[in-house]
Amino acid sequence: MLDYLSEINKCVKCGTCTTSCPIYKEEFLEQSTARGKLTLIKALNEEEGALSQ
Ligand code: SF4
Repeated sequence: MLDYLSEINKCVKCGTCTTSCPIYKEEFLEQSTARGKLTLIKALNEEEGALSQ
């Protein structure tokens, strides 16, 4: 089974994905980027532990 938390923690928040994301270029919304999505998943997991079950 893939260790999702380990994969999520590989994001170093460098921001490179903001420059390559066409949706971010239009909307300037952090949640549109890979970094934003990973941050959201990580926060949800910390609250609910969804990835450790
Ligand atoms: S997801 Fe975005 S911020 Fe995170 S490591 Fe990859 S390019 Fe950098």
